[in-house]
Amino acid sequence: MAKILCVLYPDPVTGYPPKYVRDQIPLITHYPNGQLAPTPVGPLGFKPGELVGCVSGELGLRGYLEQNGHQLVVTSDKDGADSTFDKHLVDADIVISQPFWPAYLTAERIARAKKLKLALTAGIGSDHVDLKAAAAHNITVAEETFSNSISVAEHVVMMVLALVRNYLPAHQLAVNGGWNIADCVSRSYDLEGMHFGTLGAGRIGLAVLRRLKPFDVKLHYYQRHRLSPEVEQELGLTYHDAPEDLVRVCDIVNLQMPLYPSTEGFFNENMLKQARRGMYLINTARGALCDRDAIVNALQSGHLAGYAGDVWYPQPAPVDHPWRSMPYNGMTPHMSGSSLAGQARYAAGTLEILQCFLEGKPIRPEYLIVDGGNLAGTGARSYALS
Ligand code: NDP
Repeated sequence: MAKILCVLYPDPVTGYPPKYVRDQIPLITHYPNGQLAPTPVGPLGFKPGELVGCVSGELGLRGYLEQNGHQLVVTSDKDGADSTFDKHLVDADIVISQPFWPAYLTAERIARAKKLKLALTAGIGSDHVDLKAAAAHNITVAEETFSNSISVAEHVVMMVLALVRNYLPAHQLAVNGGWNIADCVSRSYDLEGMHFGTLGAGRIGLAVLRRLKPFDVKLHYYQRHRLSPEVEQELGLTYHDAPEDLVRVCDIVNLQMPLYPSTEGFFNENMLKQARRGMYLINTARGALCDRDAIVNALQSGHLAGYAGDVWYPQPAPVDHPWRSMPYNGMTPHMSGSSLAGQARYAAGTLEILQCFLEGKPIRPEYLIVDGGNLAGTGARSYALS
């Protein structure tokens, strides 16, 4: 029997279950690269489209786990030495956590988790786990690669349009009973003809480039390995071999690389100095990729025209986090990858990985981040231990 400790974000403040505004979600069987969507065996434990990402939703896992004799503990109480998470961590075999409400698995916590064998991310991005410590303790780290990549890509496109066209302040003006068109349009531009660049053109970054192509923008990217000539040609991409070169020429920059030790603080004061005055910056990757105060200063001085994203450090962000109140921000809590459609896929993927792990079957390599004491599968391509 295994003990599974699952940390999920709290239920809606109005109670669970919520009323749904739609009765179904589209069925996605394959992702854009041909990868098969999750294939758990047997019933899902929830109806796709239901809110399963919060505590009462339990990712729909209880039925499968209890029928097979395992123990499931679900909590949102994750921070502080006397948290429910810390109490149960000491004898947990498996920890499930989400990037949206991360239970930070630090080296110190890993050292105390003597039985831990699997750290499973319900979603994508396992930077809340100290991957080096996990590898050293022979803990497998896995996530549901591609499950919510398109959810995030759509969110990025929304934020690009919202910032450039000054949607959020104009909407607020209408809600407040105003009608001053000049106030709405004095910061409103067209996207057409602008230069858009992504730092990281993996699953999400590339999906954003594809979605923006029909807006007739000039597309740029930087990452360490070039995309294929066919993809570069199809999208008319300009490749830059240094991020500074990209930010010098782009009107809008999207951050879409993973967080690992050497990308922390990637977008700092020096990078901002290279940026064009009036650049918009989007970040749905990880908050700690940016220097928090450098972003605030650049918005206050007018060097940045806007900043939007849904990722912060730490999470949940404290009430007085300056990104909540800085000018021209389009911030939300971490939500882009947890749409009801995204949840259905990462919950199904979580079940698939649990079934494989508990029943001694191999986990798909595309889900693996750390295995056998080292980076593995997707982790070996996307992450670094230093
Ligand atoms: P991928 O691994 O597919 O893509 C990441 C890309 O970043 C790769 O193509 C990689 O290319 C590039 N990259 C890695 N290191 C660097 C570097 N040092 N400099 C420049 N580029 C780099 O990941 P996804 O697109 O699936 O996801 C990206 C990130 O988005 C995740 O790691 C996660 O943090 C975040 N995310 C956020 C979600 C949300 O809800 N907001 C949900 C899902 C993901 P190369 O190796 O060639 O450099």
